Amino acid sequence: MQKVTDHVYIESESSVCNAGIVATDDGVAVIDTPMVPSSAKKLAHAITRFGAVRYVINTEPHMDHIAGNCYFGGTIVAHDGVRARILAAKEEEMTGMLQRMAPDNLPLDKEFRFRPPEITFSEKLTLHLGQFTLRLIHMPGHTPHSLAVYIPEEKIVFTSDNVNLQMPFFGDASPDLWLKTLERYNNLDVEMVVPGHGSVCDKGCFPKMSLILESWIDAVDKSIKKGLDMEQTLEELAKSEIASRMPEEGPEIDLFRLNVEKLYGFLKR
Ligand SMILES: [Zn+2]
Repeated sequence: MQKVTDHVYIESESSVCNAGIVATDDGVAVIDTPMVPSSAKKLAHAITRFGAVRYVINTEPHMDHIAGNCYFGGTIVAHDGVRARILAAKEEEMTGMLQRMAPDNLPLDKEFRFRPPEITFSEKLTLHLGQFTLRLIHMPGHTPHSLAVYIPEEKIVFTSDNVNLQMPFFGDASPDLWLKTLERYNNLDVEMVVPGHGSVCDKGCFPKMSLILESWIDAVDKSIKKGLDMEQTLEELAKSEIASRMPEEGPEIDLFRLNVEKLYGFLKR
């Protein structure tokens, strides 16, 4: 666990996404849960020293942010759309991902279940926990149901995968909303930013992320204007600067195709 402020920690090594811990005078808020069961259990145990878990907040519906919910106590809080997605989640998807990432966690243990949020909201919700205010703000972009967790007392924001400088994933995204959302993040009074994946950064990551999104959008747009079809666009982009920043093997290979398909469909309309 990495200490970010006096009261905020993140776990990123054993978790696929950044899992956040806000340790207050009145218990703990967990922000996203590790998807690998052994990592989720390890983190749940490690944070008992901060007190009982009061809330678990999911910043988006993707498996790598929600699948560990069942290993934590407290009340789960997320956007309305996250509840719908978790209720519809399939165990095969989870086991498929574990097969690739952490096969020693299979078969799933008896405790595993998809645990949906008990409290949901559509635009804004404020939780008051101990000495801290947790402002949950709907921030559509990377997914339609993504949210920010903004803690003004600590000048910190958790962004979900709306910020992921390693690789943006467009599969579930609204590219135009995503760019607008990044401008809204930029208006928050924060000094530290915890992205969905990768290192803690400062507000400089918002314009950086916008540039990354724009470079993807521009590249696909150029191919469309040249009259290329989807497969040709994929080939063209595989040779480009964008592809050179992608890992050459692993599950991200599928994400590259999904990104191009999504953007092609979005821009071709
Ligand atoms: Zn995601």
